[in-house]
Amino acid sequence: QGGAPLLTVRGLQAWYGESHVLHGVDIDIHAGEVVTLLGRNGAGKTTTLRSIMGVVGRRSGSITYGGRELVDARSDVIARAGIAWCPEERGIFASLDVTENLMLPPVVLPGGLPIEEIYTLFPNLKERARSQGTKLSGGEQQMLAIARILRTGAKLLLLDEPSEGLAPVIVQQIGHTIRALKQRGFTVLLVEQNFRFAQTVADRHYVMEHGKVVDMVRNDELAGSMGRLHEYLGV
Ligand code: ATP
Repeated sequence: QGGAPLLTVRGLQAWYGESHVLHGVDIDIHAGEVVTLLGRNGAGKTTTLRSIMGVVGRRSGSITYGGRELVDARSDVIARAGIAWCPEERGIFASLDVTENLMLPPVVLPGGLPIEEIYTLFPNLKERARSQGTKLSGGEQQMLAIARILRTGAKLLLLDEPSEGLAPVIVQQIGHTIRALKQRGFTVLLVEQNFRFAQTVADRHYVMEHGKVVDMVRNDELAGSMGRLHEYLGV
């Protein structure tokens, strides 16, 4: 892909207190790409998303988004620059219904999708518009969490294990949603343990080990790379 990447991460290191977790992560993502972070438990995938979003204790290196350096920026500044994070625990309001949740995006930038458009993208959520957060299935909660960050107007979406704990048919729906987001021009970086799912959505995969990116594989060249991936991931 030509042109400058939308997101460039160079030599990213991160700490939780005294615990040094990322040891120099390098990632490039072009606008409109869907990219996964793969790797075993504890490799640093979630911490990479948290670091990009500015929610770790300390970080160093470089994180540029649209040419702007964000490694020293606060998380609210990063959010207003157009990056949104959908954490593994989803972060929706249990006591509010679906529409109310959608009325409370974390930030709102120009280009945030109106509720009607959200409901076109997520017809299941429309049917559940008056249901409380607590009454939603795991899949509906995940859809709502993604829908909420689309309200913000962010163009780069960081998704932490959107397939986790969901039934295969729901995982397929999430995959459909991610492909629809790509078609609309969103850029997605997602952490995944489910490699079969990752293959159905991503253009490229980065493999992490011990707080570093150790490999990158294009999805259309997977056939020749399966041996390597098998060793990294045990898939
Ligand atoms: P997983 O899928 O298990 O979450 P991961 O690749 O996303 O794996 P991280 O969650 O980024 O890995 O964790 C990387 C390392 O950082 C692990 O050794 C983990 O124990 C440690 N770690 C994660 N969160 C914290 C925290 N809040 N405080 C201290 N150490 C942490």
